Amino acid sequence: MGAMKILKRAIRRSLKSLTVKQRFGLIVSIPITCLFVSLAAFAWLAINLAEAEKWVHHTQQVRLDTKRLLGALSEAEAGVRGYGLTRRDVFLVSYDDAMLKIPTLLERLENLVDNNPAQTQHLREICVWIDEALFALEQKKSLQQQLDESQDLSSMVVSTAELYDWLEEGEETMSRAQLEIQRFADEEERLLNIRRHNLETYRTITWILLTLSAIIGTGSGILAIYLFTQLQKELNAREQSLEASNEQLTLAYNQLQRFTANASHELRAPLAAMLSNAQVGLMAPPNDLAIPRQRLTKIVTLAKSMGLLVSDLLFLARHEGKLNSEVRQRITLIPFLEAIAHEWQLEAAEHNLHFKTDFANEPLVVRADPNLLRQAIANLLSNACRYTAAEGGVTLRAYPQATRVILEVEDTGIGIDKQDLPFIFERFYRTDKSRNKEKGGFGLGLAIAQQIIHAHKGTISVESVPNQGTTFRITLPLAIGTSTMVNEP
Ligand code: ATP
Ligand code: MG
Repeated sequence: MGAMKILKRAIRRSLKSLTVKQRFGLIVSIPITCLFVSLAAFAWLAINLAEAEKWVHHTQQVRLDTKRLLGALSEAEAGVRGYGLTRRDVFLVSYDDAMLKIPTLLERLENLVDNNPAQTQHLREICVWIDEALFALEQKKSLQQQLDESQDLSSMVVSTAELYDWLEEGEETMSRAQLEIQRFADEEERLLNIRRHNLETYRTITWILLTLSAIIGTGSGILAIYLFTQLQKELNAREQSLEASNEQLTLAYNQLQRFTANASHELRAPLAAMLSNAQVGLMAPPNDLAIPRQRLTKIVTLAKSMGLLVSDLLFLARHEGKLNSEVRQRITLIPFLEAIAHEWQLEAAEHNLHFKTDFANEPLVVRADPNLLRQAIANLLSNACRYTAAEGGVTLRAYPQATRVILEVEDTGIGIDKQDLPFIFERFYRTDKSRNKEKGGFGLGLAIAQQIIHAHKGTISVESVPNQGTTFRITLPLAIGTSTMVNEP
């Protein structure tokens, strides 16, 4: 089980290092290679099997002819013996038949064993023994015929004793020839056994190869399917991530487009106002100093506002991305927030708002850039004061939650419509243009606050009910070594 997992992981890892093209090649090449290897192996086996079969058949043929030769010799001998005993010519017919067969059989055998030098040599020796045995038989037959014709033993060239010796010698030669043929046949029997064994071995190998190729073929098929599924999964994942990044890009592009349009619009309006003020100031009669002064004051206000806008834009451009760890310091939050609250208490009082704080009584420490964090909280407090009518309330709250700290800015102001909520952190987004014109914001405060909090690995969110109030919630990771107790209000 463990080994399978390790194997799977190793396959997956090595697969990932291949390109899609290489993987596809691998998937296709596995079954094709298996097929060709099996075909080559089967072709080799088929050739060897045919060869082995041919040899078995060949040896069987030699064995058969050897038996026939032995049979012919016995027939010849029996023919002569039968004639000797019965004097019937019918025995001589079978003798003659055998005598005709023997040379043909010897010739066939010689051709059959010409590939085996030892057997060829043995056959030559057998031929000599057969020649001698046949010569003796022929002599025996002639003598018997002579005896039949003369009926007088005294007229014979050799003595009876010599004749019997000689006949006995002929019989020995025949036995020797038969013995040698038997040895020859035994050797062929041995060869036949070896060749049959070879044939069996090739048949067994064929079966094993067939089984193996079936197993490997199935295995390689499964592997190819597995690889293909992996590839498909990865392609799907890539497609999904491409779609996701495409969506992100479209989102970013739309944001950028809105930002560019809004920025140019925001800068064009005060520039046009400055130009018209300057032109009016220039057209004033030379002795009237009040009009140019009035216009110049307006130009100064507009230039200040443009300066603010440009510094906000620069701020956003400069603080993109995560903060360096060197600029982040350990900040004990409660005294830090108390100092901010003190400043904003005065501001709220100017707007006739009731400003409250609600801080957990714990040493909450975060790692942050104090100036940036102050700016983010100030942007939220500024909004709370700006978008809450007189006699309303603004609360700054801080409490820990597991490994994080929550900062909340709550107001009882005009609230934000549901359809505006997803966009309020976008640059230059303002919920109600005409209403905000009076309040004079650029729509950058929340974008800046969000950028700062994200740079500190935190999150910012909003909850709002129109005409009841809004709560902005910041979460920041507590610095290591700080109390992490859960203490929700
Ligand atoms: P800036 O902060 O750049 O001077 P702004 O206040 O208009 O201008 P943001 O602070 O980014 O811009 O706020 C975006 C919009 O969200 C505001 O125009 C306002 O309509 C809405 N908004 C933000 N805070 C509040 C709030 N506390 N109550 C009601 N509406 C809010
Ligand atoms: Mg604002």
